[in-house]
Amino acid sequence: MRLSNLFMPTRKEDPADAEVVSHKLLVRGAYIRMVTRGIYDFLPLGWKSVRKIEAIIREEMDRAGAQEVRLPAVQPAELWEESGRWQEYGPELLRFKDRKGSEYCLGPTHEEVMTNLIRNDVGSYKDLPLNLYQIQTKFRDETRPRFGLMRGREFIMKDAYSFDIDEESAKVSYQQMYDAYQRIFDRLGFEYAAVEADSGNIGGSLSHEFQVLAETGEDEIVRCVECDYAANVEKAETRPTEVSEATGEQLEMATVDTPGAKTIEEISAFLDVPASNCVKTLLFHVADQTVAVLVRGDHVVNEIKLTAFLREQLKVDAAAKENKEDAKPFELNMASDAQVKAATGAPVGFAGPVGLEIPVFADLEVQALSNFVVGANAADKHHTNVNHGRDFEVTAFADLRLAQAGDLCARCGGTFESHRGIEVGHVFYLGTKYSDAMGAGVQDQNGKMQSLKMGCYGIGVTRILAAVVEQNHDKNGIIWPMAIAPYQVIVLPLQMKNEEVIEAGEKIYAELQDAGIDVLLDDRKAGAGSKFKDADLVGIPVRIAIGSRGLKEGMVEVKVRSAAENEDIPLADAVEYIK
Ligand code: ATP
Ligand code: MG
Ligand code: MG
Ligand code: MG
Repeated sequence: MRLSNLFMPTRKEDPADAEVVSHKLLVRGAYIRMVTRGIYDFLPLGWKSVRKIEAIIREEMDRAGAQEVRLPAVQPAELWEESGRWQEYGPELLRFKDRKGSEYCLGPTHEEVMTNLIRNDVGSYKDLPLNLYQIQTKFRDETRPRFGLMRGREFIMKDAYSFDIDEESAKVSYQQMYDAYQRIFDRLGFEYAAVEADSGNIGGSLSHEFQVLAETGEDEIVRCVECDYAANVEKAETRPTEVSEATGEQLEMATVDTPGAKTIEEISAFLDVPASNCVKTLLFHVADQTVAVLVRGDHVVNEIKLTAFLREQLKVDAAAKENKEDAKPFELNMASDAQVKAATGAPVGFAGPVGLEIPVFADLEVQALSNFVVGANAADKHHTNVNHGRDFEVTAFADLRLAQAGDLCARCGGTFESHRGIEVGHVFYLGTKYSDAMGAGVQDQNGKMQSLKMGCYGIGVTRILAAVVEQNHDKNGIIWPMAIAPYQVIVLPLQMKNEEVIEAGEKIYAELQDAGIDVLLDDRKAGAGSKFKDADLVGIPVRIAIGSRGLKEGMVEVKVRSAAENEDIPLADAVEYIK
């Protein structure tokens, strides 16, 4: 491409509203232009890089066995009513009517449309697993669109959806996407972390965000310096520490699996810790497992952190809650958190039964056993079939403390360091949320209908463009990684009145093109200074400058954008050197 023909209106001034470097440089470098709040044009350079990002994503998605489709951007309200999200989604969903008064939205995501496609045309387990993806424009009416492409209202997303017959194979599909995402973000040259993220009502850790580490990121994540566990601060599991009021010593709360042990005596035997040391022991039966939370010392358990732990257990219980009808009604009146706390000093945000003999609570060994048994840690003082939501509420979630640097890792006790991150990708196991609501099922081997187990997987294509710039720039401009630079090499003939210089430029340009390299020739009649400036601003990885003085010695100057120094190379060797 000749710069004299290229639509590349670079600018000297930063856009007035730009707060972050990627926004400034992408506008100044003639990659994007704002049309209106959160909505952008992509100029030739910007679009070329976007297409290179898309190409990498396509290659890795296809390699992972996903198939590309194209779904509509405009979606009918009916599908969203089926899933319940027409009501739930809130003002980020841009809704509108057609001339007949029918309601539609501009797709912020495509679970409904995709589930609709599958339910109509996939009937048997033999058609599974299936993973379909698209690369498409999304619209979210963000409250605060900002940072240029980082938080737009209209943006490009790659979204994939997997469909499996059972949870086991759904987990395989999830892992395939997780691996594909790592390959994609490796190829893009990112410094990033795959972090555990909130997985809604589904237990376990089947939600990961891919966070590009950058000061300007809107997300906060923590990473353990010891074991590399990383999570979004909302999700991070910390090992609480607490200082004893009595002794001033640091107390540690540990969670331990104690299979089979249900009473304080059994637990203290199992753990070989004297019962008197376990001043507060909270037990949970989760599925078949007993988990004990021990606090050694004489101090009250850190309420909020313990609540975070409880919340995890309750998520597991969410599935059990579905079988509400089978559960026997709980006979005793339930007290509110505050009442229980007042009556018992119980440190946690769940309610226990009132009407039990108070001495039970005096020991303060509150037990919450599976599905749930709530009560005290004493024989015959438990109540079975207690259901969260129906029989007691956990109210302390809202002010859950976020993890921060210096907290201890729940896995290994190592220390967390914190980073800011840009969420460029998100993999998420959905379970049967949409397939149940929308009736998407297939027959299994035994001819029985099974709700499809779904996963969804998003990548912010245009956000990636900004994230790359956040990680790769200097004071002069962008420094593209080779993989997504709009052009790989720029040839600068420095004196456009000198025939030899022009000729040498044309020759190198032609040879690089023949070699299949994406090359720009700056054939504009501009001064050397402004050519260098533009080349740096636009961020082409390799620059070949041809000046009359060097040319006399048969030399041209090659500079790698990311390197400090340039190199003089014989003209004759230049193309071979670049290749
Ligand atoms: P965020 O937390 O930044 O609002 P999200 O969690 O709402 O993102 P997802 O629903 O997980 O986003 O969508 C998948 C991907 O789409 C995100 O990981 C992100 O890379 C991209 N994305 C989401 N919102 C935007 C936006 N407003 N502008 C650009 N890209 C976006
Ligand atoms: Mg969002
Ligand atoms: Mg998010
Ligand atoms: Mg997300």
